[in-house]
Amino acid sequence: MTEGSAFTLTRRIIFAMLAGGVVGIGINMANGDVGGIAGFLQSVIVEGLFGTVGQIFVTALKMLVVPLVFVSLVCGVVSLGDVHALGRIGVKTVALYLLTTAMAITIALVLASIFAPGEGFQITSGYSDFQPTPPPPLSKVLIGMIPGNPFAAMAQGNMLQLIVFSIIFGISLTLSGDAGQPVVNLFTSLNEVVMKMVGIVMWLAPIGVFCLIGKTFATQGIEVIAPLFGYFAVVVLALGVHFFCSYGSLIAFVARLSPLIFFQKMRAAMIFAFSTASSNATIPVTLRSVEKRLGVDNSVAAFTVPLGATINMDGTAIMQGVATVFISNVYGIGLGMTDYLMIIATATLASIGTAGVPGVGLVMLSMVLLQVGLPVEGVALIIGVDRLLDMLRTAVNITGDAAVTCVVAKSEKAFDETCFKDPVAGLLQID
Ligand code: ASP
Repeated sequence: MTEGSAFTLTRRIIFAMLAGGVVGIGINMANGDVGGIAGFLQSVIVEGLFGTVGQIFVTALKMLVVPLVFVSLVCGVVSLGDVHALGRIGVKTVALYLLTTAMAITIALVLASIFAPGEGFQITSGYSDFQPTPPPPLSKVLIGMIPGNPFAAMAQGNMLQLIVFSIIFGISLTLSGDAGQPVVNLFTSLNEVVMKMVGIVMWLAPIGVFCLIGKTFATQGIEVIAPLFGYFAVVVLALGVHFFCSYGSLIAFVARLSPLIFFQKMRAAMIFAFSTASSNATIPVTLRSVEKRLGVDNSVAAFTVPLGATINMDGTAIMQGVATVFISNVYGIGLGMTDYLMIIATATLASIGTAGVPGVGLVMLSMVLLQVGLPVEGVALIIGVDRLLDMLRTAVNITGDAAVTCVVAKSEKAFDETCFKDPVAGLLQID
């Protein structure tokens, strides 16, 4: 069966997403009508059915994250068999993540300066309820990366601590030689088992995606976009430019691979990210797509994907860049060149500190605003459209992780080009 055939899981997921959108918008419009039907639709269908099933699906994805990252990363480090290689991959990955984020925010600032969203926007009252969270000091962030208790780190799903623990565990396993071999075998088998679990949850994805998208559109509607259309459109434009131009060029000219195949094979992961608005919850699908569909070796992907979901947020940085210019326009506060450079630096750092869960990007925006002396209450202006933008930027976030992963894997010769070119490689079939 080819990818174009009617029964691939990806096709079903795409169909579920579109159907969810149509049904959700339909329910949202019906909500405006009088009579009992609107209340019924809202409480039984949207909150009850869509809310429950959607949440079950997201929770099932989250259930996989900790075991998958731990097992897969330990296997990855062991298969590298060399601590120097790990250091090299680490440096390349972090450098590329920072570079792509800085590129993303620069694109956002250039477009936002050209289109000047928010000029002539009227500030109305009621916007000052927003309470900013102060960013933690850098020393605290660094100390916080070390898991004082690895089980607590796992229980809390603290991704950076889990990554640090898994790497140290994997290195120690390599250094243990023969004595560690039974544990290596155990982890190799566990890896297969966890990947099967990912397959099972993905099999249920069409229903989960339908409910998540249905609920979002039924609750949000599309009319929330109207008053903030300028801001919304510039964010979407910047996301699109970065997605196609930056990632497209990275894949075509640096990794020397076909961007068309890359984007096509990442479709399922993008839809998961779009539906859940969480890079973290999407890790199992991103990892699966990158390894089984694109052909990246586990030794690279197991490290770059969870790390990317935690520290690499290009889409989030784009939103923060456009939002900063928008808020400065609304409040009539001009920004100078130093401010723009400050925004690039702060938004890049803020994206590292942004956890891959829904809505955190908006909270971190307050850090960027504080840095350039803009009123933090401005965040409240854009909250209304943030859910929809969160979905879009999360899809960009995880695609950025995958693009950098391909570049690093190609440079490390940990890439299977035959798998990349094979249209059915790693495809989950239903029938
Ligand atoms: N939802 C985003 C993610 O998980 C983070 C954010 O921008 O709020 O990637």
